[in-house]
Amino acid sequence: MVERQLRRRGIEDERVLRAMGEVPRHLFVPPRSRRQAYRDGALRIGEGQTISQPWIVAAMTALLELDGDELVLEVGTGSGYGAAVLSRCARAVVTVERRPSLAERARTLLAELGYRNVEVRVGDGSRGAPDRAPFDGISVTATARGEPPRALFDQLAPGGILVCPVKRGGDERLTRFRDGQAEAICPVRFVPLVEDPLEDSDGGGADE
Ligand code: SAH
Repeated sequence: MVERQLRRRGIEDERVLRAMGEVPRHLFVPPRSRRQAYRDGALRIGEGQTISQPWIVAAMTALLELDGDELVLEVGTGSGYGAAVLSRCARAVVTVERRPSLAERARTLLAELGYRNVEVRVGDGSRGAPDRAPFDGISVTATARGEPPRALFDQLAPGGILVCPVKRGGDERLTRFRDGQAEAICPVRFVPLVEDPLEDSDGGGADE
């Protein structure tokens, strides 16, 4: 996976490549999908949600330009896989998931695997985690409409980087924000970032 899907396709950050080699992705997917865990694609994790393709997780982590000392916020814990990779590249990670059952599963697994620098929270991640701000990096793993939520920019440290899939019209792009500048990275497809309380209008369909 690391050589063929990541290094050969432009992921150069050694810290990220090492983390991707170390985190046991098969434990973050449902048992029936274990044999497909290291394939070049997204997988369903239940509740209409998905664990992103390995390349996307690596690319999003690399875009944060981490050197190991940062506090990072992740919005959309899902399986907890992205948080595990981030935690290997940063000092600490706060990750927020709106679906309590996914958050609980991720929290348990991350604890079992010994990822002690990850805090999993249940709630609306579009509000960030003001009590832990500022963050050196913020990774949003669900698609925002138009713009990432204002609260996330407010919780970014000076010079910090926010990575978020953004949808405008029919166009959905992974976008990096730094110092007020937006940089489109690549087309992506994520589940929507849902800013209202738990309703079931957001399940399914995305493949990353
Ligand atoms: N990073 C995950 C993949 C996340 S899929 C992984 O590595 O497995 C996107 C997740 O974002 C879903 O679990 C969805 O429930 C969650 N989500 C959507 N809107 C959210 C919001 N406003 N706050 C927190 N989580 C949200």
